[in-house]
Amino acid sequence: MSQKRVPPDPTPRDPAPMIDCREAERRLHTYVDRELSEGEVAEVQRHLEQCENCRARFRFEFGLRRLVRQAVEDQPPAPQRLRERISRLRSK
Ligand SMILES: [Zn+2]
Repeated sequence: MSQKRVPPDPTPRDPAPMIDCREAERRLHTYVDRELSEGEVAEVQRHLEQCENCRARFRFEFGLRRLVRQAVEDQPPAPQRLRERISRLRSK
């Protein structure tokens, strides 16, 4: 008679604990500034996959950043002479 062995822990365990909304919010600003480590980013993303509230908040924050960046990039390019001077400085 064969005896089936029962696995010690039938519930699949998460490799890392899930961060909560407070922690996600705390990391929001460092996240958009790309100052989080890879592991921290993965944790935030995992939370966002399951939390619509934070997802909306992150999306809003990212949209804001994009607008700011665009406004900066829309500045007229530096005058030709200035750019030539800069490239000459760089080539030294
Ligand atoms: Zn959340």
